[in-house]
Amino acid sequence: MTEMRSRRLMLVHAHPDDESINNGATMARYAAEGAQVTLVTCTLGERGEVIPPELRHLSGAALGGHRLGELKDAMRALGVTDFRLLGGAGRYCDSGMMGLPDNDDPGCFWQADVDQAAGLLAEVILEVRPQVLVTYDENGGYGHPDHIQAHRVAVRAVELAAGAGWDVPKVYWNRVPRSVGEEAFAKLNGELDGLPFEKAGVLDDVPGVVDDERITTVIDGTAYASAKAAAMRAHATQITVADPYFVLSNELAQPLFTTEYYELVRGERPLSRESDLFAGVGEAP
Ligand SMILES: [Zn+2]
Repeated sequence: MTEMRSRRLMLVHAHPDDESINNGATMARYAAEGAQVTLVTCTLGERGEVIPPELRHLSGAALGGHRLGELKDAMRALGVTDFRLLGGAGRYCDSGMMGLPDNDDPGCFWQADVDQAAGLLAEVILEVRPQVLVTYDENGGYGHPDHIQAHRVAVRAVELAAGAGWDVPKVYWNRVPRSVGEEAFAKLNGELDGLPFEKAGVLDDVPGVVDDERITTVIDGTAYASAKAAAMRAHATQITVADPYFVLSNELAQPLFTTEYYELVRGERPLSRESDLFAGVGEAP
């Protein structure tokens, strides 16, 4: 293995595109600052809805392969070189939206044995020894089975790794403060006429929205706004960007946040908001 960087950030996500939407600016910033940034994606998003008509013939493994290519392009845009699929590409497949028969596919991530999947993730944690791990809350941010499962697997993997030699000091959930979301949607509604999108979404469509006081950490990614937008554009089957807005396959415009927000859930809660995920973490390996 290559030399160990002093600051190491790991992100656990469900599908290719989630990392760029949620954490693109954060990933670009820490990669640019010389931190080790490791992305673990749990599925290839084989059941995602495809936006571009010319690519709608893609489904299943073919879509997964295509999305792996999109993920590689996104990581290049963010300057991130260490990205992995949990258990290797194709080990777990996309579970589809909650309530669909897809959820019963024995190969899908929703059907995965949590301890087994967490064991695979714990191996990565023990290799990388991140001081910071970022994932979703217990509802997966918005209730998608793969996001909920990513949360469960990440939480369990942190426990397993702690018992096997690496106790991750800080764990965060992806968040959007309600006041920031409300302001951004008000601005979006005012600007909608000038955008290539017909309709605006609503704040309830955005994963991880919570009351402002729960936010512990704010990462100002303004300097990495173009890298984040480029990474999101790389996921062209899933996202259409008209910076500073974007749509998913539901075609409802949303704000593209370049300041990213987090809630610390493992580690000592700071007295005031942090501006660095590594705040309080010692430099020693
Ligand atoms: Zn997702």
